[in-house]
This record gives sequence, structure tokens and C-alpha cells, in this order.
Amino acid sequence: MNRMNLDQIIHEAVVKHMRRPLIVAGNWKMNMTVREGREFLEKLGSVEGSVLLFPPYTTLAALAPEMRRKGVLYGPQNFHYEDGGAYTGEISIPMIRELECSCLLAGHSERRTYYNETDEALSRKTARGVRSGFQVMLCIGESLEERKNGRWQKKLIEQMALDLKDLSFRELGSVLIAYEPVWAIGTGVSASLEEIGETHRLLKLAMRELFGRELPLLYGGSVNEKNAFDIGSCPYVDGFLIGGASLKPEKFREIIEISKRV
Ligand code: PEP
Repeated sequence: MNRMNLDQIIHEAVVKHMRRPLIVAGNWKMNMTVREGREFLEKLGSVEGSVLLFPPYTTLAALAPEMRRKGVLYGPQNFHYEDGGAYTGEISIPMIRELECSCLLAGHSERRTYYNETDEALSRKTARGVRSGFQVMLCIGESLEERKNGRWQKKLIEQMALDLKDLSFRELGSVLIAYEPVWAIGTGVSASLEEIGETHRLLKLAMRELFGRELPLLYGGSVNEKNAFDIGSCPYVDGFLIGGASLKPEKFREIIEISKRV
């Protein structure tokens, strides 16, 4: 083993130790009525550590007190950068503030794809969210085509740079990144451990170059109770953003327990 490898192994062990506990976040997307959400929380029970849920707005508003009682942190799946006005179907920061949310989700690939969410809009959203005192979890991810044709590295770095371009060093301290390869979302097939390890390492290096600091980096894309231990054990993985498996309280609870053992 040469000196370079040894340095890398020591660095990764230190990084691994420092990033505990892992963050476990669930994105409910357009699922979970208020009644279903209430049943979910009853079955989930109380939690400790960094456990986050992003319910749809109606369920978020109705169940915010219950999530607080259970120790679950929560926030919306999307928000507008303006405080109010003629933006039919949108939701503003003052509305979110009333619910005592702690973290806002931004830039999920489904919003980028189905609602044409642009990097320009996202840079305004991330700045608005952070300056309003919230943590912002920004999702980035490459398409299958970009993964195959080798343009994935450029794409991911570009998304981070553009979407966070207006934030100062200090403001970046309120940002988390969720790396979610688009081809692994909702497919039941996560990225391989090699791909996750390589990508997370690249992103952490890019963060140091772009921002002069590292930001917490979650992996998302078909995480479940079977692969959570292995994915969570990859260096530079600071937690998970979970879609499908976050809808089942038993599975979500199991992933929370696994995240404590990694
Ligand atoms: C997601 O939508 O953010 C996600 C990761 O979904 P899934 O876990 O179902 O792949």
C-alpha cells in the first residue's frame, strides 16, 4: 500500500466518523392524505436524531404539531421565492414559517422535469430559503444518458454551482445536497456502491473548490431497508433521501435504526 492510499484511507475514516449520525429524510411526493399521514406517524412512533419528512402541503399543515411531538423534523417539497402575489398554486416562505418547518426541499428532479424548474429559479429559491432562516436541501442528479455519455460530472457540478451561486460562505452552512441520479429514482435499482462512492467523493471535492467548504451530502435513489447499511457505509455519504420506502412506517423505521448502526 503506498502513502497516497494510506492517506486516503485515513481521510475517509475521519470523514466517516465526523459525519455521524446519518440524516434520514423521506419525500412523500404526492402521497399521504392527512388520515394516512396520521396513521403513519402513529406506527412510526417517536424518533431521535436527524429524521426529516417532506409531506404534501395539506398533510404538512395538518400534522406539523404531531411531527414535532414525535421528534420528526419537516418541511415542504417546494416553495416560491416571492412572499406573495399572483402565483396560482404556489406556496410562500411566510406560509411555511407559520408551520415551524426547519428544512425546505428544492430542485427535486420531478420538479425540474415536470414543472420546468430552472437553475435560475433555484438560485433564487435557495437564497430566499436560507436568508429566511431555513435549511435548504437541494437535489441534484444526472439523467441516464448523461451517466452513459460521461457528462454526468459536469452536469452535477454545474447544478451545484448555478443553484447556489448567490450564497455566501456562511449562508452555505445552511445547505444540504441530495445527490439523486434520476435513473435510480423510483426504479427499485439504486446506483452501485462504486458509483455512489465515486460520485460523492467527486462532489465533496467540487464543494471544496467551488465553495471553500464541504456541505452534507445525502444519497437518494431506491434506498430501502435492504441496501441502507451498505449505502450508508460508503465514505462521504451523510444520509439518505428516500421516496418509496419512506411511505411505509416499518421500512422507514428500519432505515432509521440502520442509520444509527452504520
Ligand atoms: C426521491 O423521490 O427522492 C427518491 C429517492 O425516490 P425513491 O426512493 O423511491 O427512489
